[in-house]
Amino acid sequence: MLNEDLTTIYDEIVRDNPAQPEFHQATMEVLESIGPAIDRHPEFTKHKIIQRICEPERQIIFRVPWQDDNGEVQINRGFRVQFNSALGPYKGGLRFSPTVDLGVIKFLGFEQVFKNALSGQPIGGGKGGADFDPKGRSNGEVMRFCQSFVTELYRHVGEMTDVPAGDIGVGHREIGFMFGQYKRITNRYESGVLTGKGVTWGGSLVRTEATGYGAVFFAEQMLRAQGETLDGKRCVVSGSGNVAIYAIEKLHQLGAVVVACSDSGGFVHEPNGVDLDLLKEVKLVERGRIANYAERRGATFSSESVWEVPCELALPCATQNELDETEARALIEHGCRAVVEGANMPCTAAAVDAFEAAGVAFGPGKAANAGGVATSALEMQQNASRDAWSFEYTEQRLADIMSGIHETCLTVADDYGAPGNYVVGANIAGFERVARAMLALGLI
Ligand code: NAP
Repeated sequence: MLNEDLTTIYDEIVRDNPAQPEFHQATMEVLESIGPAIDRHPEFTKHKIIQRICEPERQIIFRVPWQDDNGEVQINRGFRVQFNSALGPYKGGLRFSPTVDLGVIKFLGFEQVFKNALSGQPIGGGKGGADFDPKGRSNGEVMRFCQSFVTELYRHVGEMTDVPAGDIGVGHREIGFMFGQYKRITNRYESGVLTGKGVTWGGSLVRTEATGYGAVFFAEQMLRAQGETLDGKRCVVSGSGNVAIYAIEKLHQLGAVVVACSDSGGFVHEPNGVDLDLLKEVKLVERGRIANYAERRGATFSSESVWEVPCELALPCATQNELDETEARALIEHGCRAVVEGANMPCTAAAVDAFEAAGVAFGPGKAANAGGVATSALEMQQNASRDAWSFEYTEQRLADIMSGIHETCLTVADDYGAPGNYVVGANIAGFERVARAMLALGLI
């Protein structure tokens, strides 16, 4: 429940940002948590920090014209929302998906501001992308699209200004094409302008695995706080993209059994554990479907909800609002004890409420999936010092960062009278860090 002042602020956000339901949902989720911090710090209200934090510093929308393999002209819409740079250059991924619109990019950018603050690193928050669907496109088409996209984007980014990375639909291939075009236009080998690069040309080891691994490190800490371990735990992971695949890898390494994973076509049920080598082959090499994986394994494929599969730990790693209240209730009924968000805002607000009411430990994406951006910041450090760290060292840095985020969430939640509530801990910790920096920097 929001108090009267926060309700007024929220109503203004809805009025001024019409038809952006995901952005409204993300702001509501933060406003619902930060009431106690606002009461404790009247200076935040005096300086209108909340209203300022909810308004992006800059929003760029642009045309992306390109030619497909048949010679047809195609036109997409590109976005970059530079949300907040109080703590450092804007940092956040690029999403290529037909579901992208301004509201989706703003919700993701808003979340990114708090997530990046929570990671403790010197990075601001931003997000971008396009309503382009790379699925079914040839390499040549994807390259021409990326080149056209960067031909506009290049003037808005830079290692000291704004450092994009990947997200849904943007992996190594797309980052490579974009970095190549940026280098060509600017005549600068500016490694720090994009993260998620290939390791032979400026990328960091562990960046590919970082979001999935980080989410599992966070899950491990959550279970440890309850006196449990991952060993033998049955897990369901939704999605089978970058985050999901490396979450599955780390879960298996730590002794858990992943009994189901999915894509937008359906899920595969694997009571004895997903075959990760085959999954990587189908998804990362062949760019195929979970249905193809299931066929090759002789496993059960279903187009129903993956959340019907019983498990003790659930990691939604696909997309926003993929797990609703009904699905949350199914998970609870089947004995799920912890939910950790690998994706951004995958659980609806009603689903989160259901988990909290049932005493299911809930790790919000802002905290649990911060490992990706944190390792991007480590990539920026390596680029700035022209250095390349080992896998072991970088993974240890990631594990330490995730442990630090976990501890911060619990300490701040305790401090504000909500022990064990990771949502309150993450939102207040992230918000306070950004708010203090904004106060220090004056009215800009
Ligand atoms: P990705 O590699 O493109 O994979 C996305 C996966 O989700 C695909 O398997 C996709 O299946 C599946 N999916 C999409 N919509 C779905 C739906 N409605 N139901 C079931 N599955 C669906 O993207 P990603 O990088 O893993 O990102 C996944 C999530 O993590 C996003 O919310 C992203 O913002 C978040 N995240 C990513 C990073 C990162 O470092 N990559 C960092 C932090 C947060 P199809 O192939 O069928 O579409």
